[in-house]
Amino acid sequence: MRKLASIRKISKVLLHSNAEKLGIYIIEGWQVIDQKDRYKEGDTIIYCEIDSFLPVKPEFEFLRKTSYRKMGVLEGFRLRTIRLRGELSQGLIIPIEVLNNHDHYAVGEDVSEHLDIIKYEPPIPEHLSGEVLGPFPGYIPKTDEERVQNLDYEDLKAHTYYVTEKLDGSSCTIFLTDGHFGVCSRNLELKETDGNSYWGVARRMNLEEILKKTGRNLALQGELIGFRIQANIYQVNHTEFRMFKVYDIDQKKYFTIPEMYQFGAMYNIPVVPLIDSEYVLPTDIEAVLKYAEGPSLLNEKAGREGIVLFAATNPTAHFKVISNSFLEGED
Ligand code: AMP
Ligand code: MN
Repeated sequence: MRKLASIRKISKVLLHSNAEKLGIYIIEGWQVIDQKDRYKEGDTIIYCEIDSFLPVKPEFEFLRKTSYRKMGVLEGFRLRTIRLRGELSQGLIIPIEVLNNHDHYAVGEDVSEHLDIIKYEPPIPEHLSGEVLGPFPGYIPKTDEERVQNLDYEDLKAHTYYVTEKLDGSSCTIFLTDGHFGVCSRNLELKETDGNSYWGVARRMNLEEILKKTGRNLALQGELIGFRIQANIYQVNHTEFRMFKVYDIDQKKYFTIPEMYQFGAMYNIPVVPLIDSEYVLPTDIEAVLKYAEGPSLLNEKAGREGIVLFAATNPTAHFKVISNSFLEGED
């Protein structure tokens, strides 16, 4: 589970070169702009990540102009990536004193619930929500990636990586197990209904027949992109499935990246673009954030959402780096 609001320490304080009253606060891989001298290095604070949805409360009213959103019937403030006087600012620092018994919390602890903070989820169009058949099958891992800013960058440097393009669509899992063919969105298994985009693509690509041909119990995981999905930065006028993982249900393990690409080629299943297969992380996290930016390999006129890296030697080590330019452009 993603920690939206958690106890952290200020790693570093910098001066804002373009605003006397503002300071730059570094929290691990994140940078937040706030009043100058409000915090100092080593202070324990609450850090709220981007996409936190904060409740309407007097102390958050300063966010109204830029961040007020509705999520269904809920009203709140969505934290986004912004620039303040030219400097990037991501998320929000809240003084730890807002918590009762604040001495009792440990660094790393998730306090989202204490503060009524949930994740902002954009509205889901009808062709994607569909009808629910059941929960996501427990024997297949859900897709998710941790952000580089939340990981120990020095530890990550121990590996070389496959770099894939991160596509901005909807997570889709298509599987066959003991004769049962299933299609899932990120968190649910869906009924086959007319007009459902996940099922539409699965049928058009003949994925049931393809999976049966393999003679194995497998789950294909990928991103559904295209027409009416997110902002469709790829500007394709159809819907397509781009695979990024294959899970062997019986052996309970993922294919390696080369195996996944070979499988895609063998069965004619489109895959996410591969950007590099021997990538070495640069010295500083800033440089990998820069590297995440660039044109999409599916549409060179669009800036890509980011990249997902998979360690060559250790398939369990993988993470995402989202382009800050992409985040700044989100509404
Ligand atoms: P987010 O979209 O920020 O929630 O990041 C995690 C999601 O990225 C995963 O659940 C996938 O649906 C999606 N994704 C898109 N492209 C890729 C890729 N190349 N590798 C892995 N996951 C990807
Ligand atoms: Mn996404």
